[in-house]
Amino acid sequence: VWPTVVHMLEAAAAQSSEHLALVCGDEQLTYGQYRACVAGFAHDLMQCGLGQGDRVVLLMGNSLDIAIASFAVQAAGAQVVPLNPAYTTSELRQVLASARARGIIYDEAVTQVVSQVGASFDVAYCIGTGPGQQRLTRWQDATALPLPLPDPNSPSTLQYTGGTTGVPKGVSLTHQAVSINVSQREALLPTLRGQEKVLAITPLFHVYAVSMGLYLAAYAQGTLVIMPKYRPDTVLQAIAQHRITLMSGSPTIFMGLMAYEGFEQADLSSLRLCSSGSAALAEETLTRWQAATGCVVCEGYGQTEAGPVLTYNPFAGQRKLGSVGVAVPLTQLQIVDVATGTQVLPVGEAGEVRARGPQIMSGYDGMPEETAKVLRDGWLHTGDIGRLDDQGYLTICDRKKEMAIVSGFNVYPREIEEVLFRHPGVSEAAVIGVSDAYRGEILLAYVVAKDSTLDEAALQAYLAEHLVKYKWPSRVFFVTELPKTSVGKIDKNTLRRRLASDVD
Ligand code: ATP
Repeated sequence: VWPTVVHMLEAAAAQSSEHLALVCGDEQLTYGQYRACVAGFAHDLMQCGLGQGDRVVLLMGNSLDIAIASFAVQAAGAQVVPLNPAYTTSELRQVLASARARGIIYDEAVTQVVSQVGASFDVAYCIGTGPGQQRLTRWQDATALPLPLPDPNSPSTLQYTGGTTGVPKGVSLTHQAVSINVSQREALLPTLRGQEKVLAITPLFHVYAVSMGLYLAAYAQGTLVIMPKYRPDTVLQAIAQHRITLMSGSPTIFMGLMAYEGFEQADLSSLRLCSSGSAALAEETLTRWQAATGCVVCEGYGQTEAGPVLTYNPFAGQRKLGSVGVAVPLTQLQIVDVATGTQVLPVGEAGEVRARGPQIMSGYDGMPEETAKVLRDGWLHTGDIGRLDDQGYLTICDRKKEMAIVSGFNVYPREIEEVLFRHPGVSEAAVIGVSDAYRGEILLAYVVAKDSTLDEAALQAYLAEHLVKYKWPSRVFFVTELPKTSVGKIDKNTLRRRLASDVD
């Protein structure tokens, strides 16, 4: 177990300085060069007065620079704040104010937004990166990382939640929480030291890709291949070209790749392990992907507040279809009654999932009341509804907030989505509950059909065959696409805002 991810990178560079560490497009760095760039940039940040107690925002897309910046900020002793570079000026203003950021590292593409917003804050260091600006790869001759390496108990990351369920909250994680979470996951998804080729498809400002891409590759002393943008053809090409062994994605990524016309011809034989997380993986998607690639898919579960990984289906042990697996080491899971939040429920009963372990966040930055709502008696209350079986396997029913109460019955939209996914004519589906004067709530289904022959009556008849009446959606709407978050999760908030008006 490394006390911080900076120690992890240092160990990888000391062990195999010539080993290829990073690839993005036609650029690449060995571990020796990677560490040198991190060291050089960290010294530069420190010379500008940044260090312990400071926050440095990253507004960067996927590139070698974001990998370097993520480690360098931490090596300088500061807290890294990765943000979505697509933030608007008002979103950025809000986060810069609440995080009291003293540094901004941004992509050339967002120069305008940064210049509009940055000036009104006390920012000590602001650097644009990109072909027309500076590159963080320029410090390849630097030698050593600044010493001492960061204190494991100090803050490492301020990671904003995806905002799928409301205002983004800054989750503060210590170095130890982040680093221990990488080794906890290793117990269930063991990597082959020095041999892994890891593909980072999703944005490296999101906790999932950071943990399952950036840090995982450094831990395994493997090569991280960074995709600048998600496109099915380039992802499939990269897997074949770089002989990728390990990739993580959200379910929509696996679905998107399988729907791509060139999928059948793609050479995916190098894949050893795929991990799916960040949203529910339909059984159909997992089964098809495994059959097509011959590679094992392990579904896991977690959230930003949990550093982020809580569970995984073990690579080498029993993987249960429909379950998100067992708790990673040193982590305890309980299911508690939704109303009280304290009464522990027996095996098999559904309730709120709560978790305890060294990877859990210190709290939401500057939000003591929000923190107190979710961190109670040493437990993180996840806001997800799930149940445990007698072997400790967790199944997620849905988010507490998504649960609808239709005519007095609790309904988890995910269950209806699963049934829709199994229909051969359906490519994507999302179900939401909306209020209704007569039944309390009703369900609306939004479906992306594979072709135009499918109609509402046919789908309703199919649902009626598979579900008890109170779970039938009142309406099924056909749409050409569903709104998604930066990691490809279906964005139900936007769906509600945009589409709920379809109901009279
Ligand atoms: P916000 O918390 O602001 O709404 P977000 O949902 O994008 O944003 P994350 O921390 O990225 O925040 O997502 C964590 C949530 O994703 C979990 O609480 C859970 O609801 C869902 N999730 C993650 N993995 C799975 C999974 N395997 N199956 C079902 N749901 C999952």
